[in-house]
Amino acid sequence: MATPVRTRFAPSPTGFLHIGGARTALFSWAFARHHGGEFVLRIEDTDVERSTPEAVQAILDGMKWLALDWDEGPFYQMQRMDRYREVVAELLAKGLAYPCYASPAELDEMREAQRARGEKPRYDGRWRPAPDKTLPMPPAGVDPVIRFCNPTEGAVAWDDLVKGRIEIANAEMDDLIIARPDGTPTYNFCVVVDDWDMKITHVIRGDDHVNNTPRQINILRALGAEVPAYAHLSMILGDDGQKLSKRHGAVSVMQYHEDGYLTEAVINYLARLGWSHGNDEVFSRDQMINWFDLDHITPSAAQFNTEKLNWLNAHYIKATDDNVLAADTASRLARRQVNPENGPALDTLVALYKERVSTLNELADAVEAFYVDVRPSEELLNQHLNDAARAALADLAGEFDACDWQREAISAAIKTTMKAHGLKMPQVAIPLRVLLVGQPQTPAIDAVVEAMGRETVMARLRRYL
Ligand code: GLU
Repeated sequence: MATPVRTRFAPSPTGFLHIGGARTALFSWAFARHHGGEFVLRIEDTDVERSTPEAVQAILDGMKWLALDWDEGPFYQMQRMDRYREVVAELLAKGLAYPCYASPAELDEMREAQRARGEKPRYDGRWRPAPDKTLPMPPAGVDPVIRFCNPTEGAVAWDDLVKGRIEIANAEMDDLIIARPDGTPTYNFCVVVDDWDMKITHVIRGDDHVNNTPRQINILRALGAEVPAYAHLSMILGDDGQKLSKRHGAVSVMQYHEDGYLTEAVINYLARLGWSHGNDEVFSRDQMINWFDLDHITPSAAQFNTEKLNWLNAHYIKATDDNVLAADTASRLARRQVNPENGPALDTLVALYKERVSTLNELADAVEAFYVDVRPSEELLNQHLNDAARAALADLAGEFDACDWQREAISAAIKTTMKAHGLKMPQVAIPLRVLLVGQPQTPAIDAVVEAMGRETVMARLRRYL
């Protein structure tokens, strides 16, 4: 039987789950799901200065919002220290690692000399044991770092599932520090032990880690571990083609939630950031799982495109049930201290507006006008409420006062007024919209009037007429 696929997402909790991290998580998750394998969540919190519990929570919240469920974990590296120490001891015992007592000053001097000779500064192996070599006496009272005996000959190579074959000569790498003087293991070492212990078969991660890979492979080999396959994802550029950064607004995926994007839209959008399935742009989570592979990931950088995200979000909003949208809108209104209880039914309003918005916040903005007393701007009033419109709307208010309160009768009242005043539809409908909701554009005006209810409509018309 083939080894079951196991992937992992291994964020460092030093900030939010941002778009790049979310894309890495999605691809790792989708690959595991596609193969019926397992997806592991590991929190790489060894940088104690920069890791915070808030960031851990933000990452978990982001994963949950995106519905990227994990099968194992979250594992915390800080809780695995004993295990790392154990593996360091194992490497020492096998002569695959060694203590190095070189002081920082001594190492500086070494690097200076190398630079002066025009060489690349690197650790020269002065404490590395060798058959015919006599090592100096360890200085008293100095706790050594532990270095890994990197192979000195040959090369380390792997077939990156995104970038193709990558090969690095061992001569290019020096002996990596795997434990600090106080015994704490270093970053690359923890990753290696974890990927080994967690039986990860495919490491899917950002290509900012490509330089770590040859070192990690060498350590895995020294441990006699199976080397996983690697897929390094190219970076994501902003709308402007620059490196994605805080300048591009929403950095945390939760910000997209705040801003009114649906999970499905963000997932669909992230899926297409560097991966494709023919010309498909709109697809469900299940389709993604069915289709996802590593063969169709582009090695070139993906570019963020807010317009496309908005287009997808508009699509998913239209496809969402009215009562689901109503519940979401209710909570967005509540955050604005707007209570929809004594106004029109929210699901009627969201049904009216959902075809016209590209975010849930726009939806909330649009329906808010039905619950709070919006006043049109002076500018809109001057532009649309001329004498002819004012006279027509005054008559229309009279019609509204008397007619049946349903769409057909409302529409008939508007048409009667138009004819009586020799006006065209927009000459009545636009000023009417401005007075009712403070906007010159709305869905069908008769539907808007009906939904607003007679009392509010009359009140909003009368104060200007
Ligand atoms: N903790 C690393 C990061 O957040 C990821 C390491 C890995 O995937 O190997 O960038």
